Amino acid sequence: MKPYLADPAETKRIIAKYDFAFRKQYGQNFLIDSAVPEAIVQAAGLTKADAVLEIGPGIGTMTQYLAEAAGKVTAVEIDKALLPILADTLSGFDNVHVIQGDILKTDLSALIEEMGGGPIKVVANLPYYITTPIIMKLLSSGEAISLMALMVQEEVAERIVSGPGSKAYGAISLGVQYYAEPKIARRVAPSSFMPQPGVASSVLLLEKRAEPKVSPKNPEHMFACIKAAFLQRRKTLPNALSGYAPLGISREKAAEALRRMGLDERLRGETLDLEGFAALSDRICEE
Ligand code: SAM
Repeated sequence: MKPYLADPAETKRIIAKYDFAFRKQYGQNFLIDSAVPEAIVQAAGLTKADAVLEIGPGIGTMTQYLAEAAGKVTAVEIDKALLPILADTLSGFDNVHVIQGDILKTDLSALIEEMGGGPIKVVANLPYYITTPIIMKLLSSGEAISLMALMVQEEVAERIVSGPGSKAYGAISLGVQYYAEPKIARRVAPSSFMPQPGVASSVLLLEKRAEPKVSPKNPEHMFACIKAAFLQRRKTLPNALSGYAPLGISREKAAEALRRMGLDERLRGETLDLEGFAALSDRICEE
């Protein structure tokens, strides 16, 4: 086994050996704190029975821990300059497959098929500039992904786990909670990375539900209602919904739907939970 890259001296040695220049536009902040990958492996409950998809292996810091704990690791990295480095730092493992590519452009069904069809666990220290699109792509990809352990900005993790009445509650909380049970496993300080990011981070655990949390008749319509409600979160629901053209609904029709649900028409969207939005969407679609 090579020295662990989570040792800052080893990361510095590899960076210097390959004259690697960090690319900010790819969100490159590499881990230099062994406690973090250890905690992630534990939070994800990895065993040799697991197939893991890692997004953005960087120089392979977390990959080393994943390869030791899991049966097989497939890692997708966008930056071509990292491929020779990964070949070096992961040369001691025969259960890691690195693919060069952009995870947002990757055909996930084909990749999952190549990985044996699932179930798979996703582990990533995410590039923060594309956190939401990556999470939503993974969550909506079908049943093969059972669990995700993701490093995200602390503020994003708090938004994802929050509920009605909280300032942090929003469309992303509902979008994620529809598919998964979210939990914050651990807070991670900027000093655990090289270079240090300007914000604190959290390890977010997303346990995929067997079925979505609610079953509205038209999930797309429900998500359009959610979008409308939080685009103008200070407005009452009837005003926010009627102000969002794609829904094509009048203020009066939205107010009537709320009244028929036994709810006050002055409610704001931020007070409704997922069940509430599902019921509201069904009621509007019925009328
Ligand atoms: N896993 C490493 C670690 O923990 O030290 C690196 C994490 S770094 C925060 C994010 C990684 O994602 C970088 O290696 C970056 O090049 C890669 N990345 C950025 N955008 C990507 C994309 N669209 N698809 C795949 N990888 C991407």
